[in-house]
Amino acid sequence: MTRSRISRIVTALVGVSALALSGATVADAAPAKDKAPSFKKFERSTYQDTDGQYLVNGDEPISSTHSLRTFYRQVFDKPGKTNRHKVRGLVVNTVAGADDRWSAGQAQNLTYCVSTAFDADHDAIVAAMAEGAGLWESASSGVNFTYVPSADSNCVTSNNSVLFPVEPVQTSQYIARAFFPSSGDFERNVLVDDSIFFSGWSPGNVLGHELGHALGFRHEHTRPEAGACFEDYSWRPLTPYDSASIMHYPQCNGSSADLTFSATDGTGVRALYGP
Ligand SMILES: [Zn+2]
Repeated sequence: MTRSRISRIVTALVGVSALALSGATVADAAPAKDKAPSFKKFERSTYQDTDGQYLVNGDEPISSTHSLRTFYRQVFDKPGKTNRHKVRGLVVNTVAGADDRWSAGQAQNLTYCVSTAFDADHDAIVAAMAEGAGLWESASSGVNFTYVPSADSNCVTSNNSVLFPVEPVQTSQYIARAFFPSSGDFERNVLVDDSIFFSGWSPGNVLGHELGHALGFRHEHTRPEAGACFEDYSWRPLTPYDSASIMHYPQCNGSSADLTFSATDGTGVRALYGP
């Protein structure tokens, strides 16, 4: 392993943990409005990805300034008096109070391609996607991801023969990023940096985490029980808090260092998409 490769690993790991730590800073500031930065300052400090989207919470893209402003309000506005977050319970993203999920029919047909631009890494990404998808599929018969290899040579968001493309990206900001069911067509992709092959986590687990977002699940560490890396309150609990969840960053007081799929993750996906 070359020196530059080691430095790359460090960059990749620090990149993820630095983003998570900035989430913790946001959390600490959230209850006191006078500590909140101005929106302009917040916008300037938010990383803008190669496709122009803002990146928040480590690996979640936001497509427009308007949506970033909504996100800003969610983070810095105090939650309402009714503390629904005391309910214990994997968490699903909510948009305007409603679960951010696929219909039962669409959840059975989550089609994707894997770009041939991965070149020599293509087959390894195909395998890791199958592994990551299999984690959720084996837990819930309501979820079915389908690989469409015929779309690989034109594997981009504008290709409507798949629900989402899996594409390579060159970045030091994250290992992979994904989307939510509510994401618009052009922002609905999974981007993967080649640091996925030396991140310390199995590529299948990393993509399992990303596909968790694609199913609607938020970071488990946004729950107050984590005590770190709070993001916002736009979610609904599906299971008791689970520090070992695949959706819980290990560096945010998580208890599973290898990002494995937990039994509770299975309970959560069944709660949303059925047994
Ligand atoms: Zn994530």
